[in-house]
Amino acid sequence: MTRLDDTVSLVTGASSGIGDATVRALAAQGSAVALVARRKDRLDALASAVEAEGGRALAIEADISDQEQAVAAVKRTVEELGRLDTVVNNAGVMLLGPVVDAPTEEWDRMVALNLEGLLYVSHAAIPHLLDAAASEPRRVADLVNISSVAGRTTRVGSAVYNMTKHGVGAFSDSLRQELSGRHVRVSLVEPGATSTELATHLRPEVLDQLRARLADVERLEAADIADAIAYIVTRPRHVAVNEMLVRPTEQEN
Ligand code: NDP
Repeated sequence: MTRLDDTVSLVTGASSGIGDATVRALAAQGSAVALVARRKDRLDALASAVEAEGGRALAIEADISDQEQAVAAVKRTVEELGRLDTVVNNAGVMLLGPVVDAPTEEWDRMVALNLEGLLYVSHAAIPHLLDAAASEPRRVADLVNISSVAGRTTRVGSAVYNMTKHGVGAFSDSLRQELSGRHVRVSLVEPGATSTELATHLRPEVLDQLRARLADVERLEAADIADAIAYIVTRPRHVAVNEMLVRPTEQEN
């Protein structure tokens, strides 16, 4: 294992769920962490918690579906924390439901965040990741994209979420090949059902269906996924974990 001392990480969607847990996990490995999301009060509280444990944290309020704000968040991270070694593209929304008669505003929100937000942050961050990969202490850098089981399978009522997460998978594997020779590792993490705020944005009838489908499944905790992310980014320089699919034991599909 290679610790993350003297490195800088940026986590999107850091104000709750998997992002919050990932910030704590990376800080515990010694990384300074930029926390990016829209709810500044949550980010400030998390930054204080990290600092109380002896870590270094920078709370950045940004809506990353807006390219200017995404670019500014990356720029501020490098200006204030000095470099950028690890990016976790975690922010996402899951607005499930049938295609027929769907409120297409939900599709716009998923495409804008799950795809475009991830692209904007990646594009702005990659030059800095390349710099980090060419320098000490690790001479390797990491871009970790959070997809989903929904990026590997499809399901009725999940068409557009499936589309965005399959897109994240395709983008990640192409980019992995583009950057591997320069020691920027691009990894994909595909969580199964995890206990977070993600489902709270669903319409009530859709939420009922989801709950019924997963009624007997003991959910993952956000920390279980953060653990997978921390494993990926602490491998030695010659080891790249390209993809990790993590389901609750009882989740079939
Ligand atoms: P949460 O709803 O708890 O977290 C989502 C995060 O995204 C929040 O911090 C939210 O913060 C942030 N966010 C939303 N919109 C924006 C925006 N426009 N700009 C910046 N940040 C934004 O859910 P999870 O932790 O579960 O989700 C994290 C990732 O994990 C997502 O990509 C999701 O698709 C994926 N995932 C989750 C699974 C689960 O079962 N929970 C399963 C499979 C994948 P704020 O509102 O403050 O901006």
